[in-house]
Amino acid sequence: MTYKAYNWQIGREMDYKYPSKRHEKQVAWIFDTNKCIACQTCTIACKNAWTSGKGQEFMFWNNVETKPWGFYPLGWDVRLLEKLGTQKWRGDRYVGDTIFESPSFGEEILGFIPDEEDYTYPNIGEDEVNEAVKQGEFIKVPHNRWMFYLARICNHCTYPACVAACPRKAIYKRDDGIVLIDQKRCRGYQECVRACPYKKSMFRSHTGNSEKCISCYPAIENDKQTQCVQNCIGKIRMFGFISPPDAPREDNPIDYLVHIAKIARPLYPQFGTEPNVYYIPPIHVPEDFNRQLFGPGANEAVERYKKATEDMNLIGLLMLFGATDNIIHSFKVEGDLDSGSCYGYDADGKEIIKVPLKEPIVVRDVYDGQRDVHRISIS
Ligand code: SF4
Ligand code: SF4
Ligand code: SF4
Repeated sequence: MTYKAYNWQIGREMDYKYPSKRHEKQVAWIFDTNKCIACQTCTIACKNAWTSGKGQEFMFWNNVETKPWGFYPLGWDVRLLEKLGTQKWRGDRYVGDTIFESPSFGEEILGFIPDEEDYTYPNIGEDEVNEAVKQGEFIKVPHNRWMFYLARICNHCTYPACVAACPRKAIYKRDDGIVLIDQKRCRGYQECVRACPYKKSMFRSHTGNSEKCISCYPAIENDKQTQCVQNCIGKIRMFGFISPPDAPREDNPIDYLVHIAKIARPLYPQFGTEPNVYYIPPIHVPEDFNRQLFGPGANEAVERYKKATEDMNLIGLLMLFGATDNIIHSFKVEGDLDSGSCYGYDADGKEIIKVPLKEPIVVRDVYDGQRDVHRISIS
């Protein structure tokens, strides 16, 4: 039996295994792809915190891959895109099938189980550009050859494929939207591994169970952002709570970026799970590629991002990324671009962070008289 569920990311109702339930509170992340340097600090922060045990050697709940040629596990997205067939949008409405609407014979949800070896090269394709550089070619602006870094974690989807697929009902979604696998109920059938379109549920042979990102729930319960956010060197990430799509709050950082400024987009919305990690698309990547990954709003998002300084709220929010370990529940901007500030508040409305809208730049003298040395630029 299937039910109808409204998925705002594809602009229509779709089939889902369980009656539609949208949580009032839903964990969500924003990742700015333009700032990621693939340092993998997030990957290691998560691994040190949660997956350093036996049988977890190749398990990365957080990974960062180079697009278009990087994958973890191998071919995770292209294999599913090929199975899904033509993915057609009419305006903002997706008129193709989601993974819940196009199962193969004998399946409830369209998917596949990667081979064990597919997980053994988590950084495959790193820094490989879209196509070979021809002999004699030199760098021009804009670059003909491109690539970008895509950081990925479980999306704590509104309509999780892993929940729908589990025959043991071992996977559940909490009231704050976090999706967890009950290790006592799991029997390792790997139906979640097969069904998750992002391949973020993983099998651990040592225990015979499946495991996945737990959204660092002990941190969330203490009003802290997740490990992969707190440790991000590039300050590309922000964690918070997204409101239901029909009731966005203008002072909620996540709502502003997703629903009001519309510069952050879900990854492969056409899969149909309504993922809750939202990406600011890369500005140097061909429009068609961005559109396939982030849906029809991707190119407008890029244009708005390029003009961010025209929107004080937007520039203020971008400055708040990585500025505090605490969860920012609301924000406010005061002043102008040159001297103004952005303030972040906790759930009780108490100020927890203040950042300038314009980062101060200090130019140091070439000669340092105190140390009697000349500063030489080596860049
Ligand atoms: S990303 Fe995959 S594992 Fe995570 S909630 Fe969605 S379907 Fe489940
Ligand atoms: S939210 Fe926590 S568990 Fe999930 S990928 Fe980030 S660090 Fe790992
Ligand atoms: S820590 Fe941040 S900048 Fe470094 S790879 Fe992870 S997401 Fe990218």
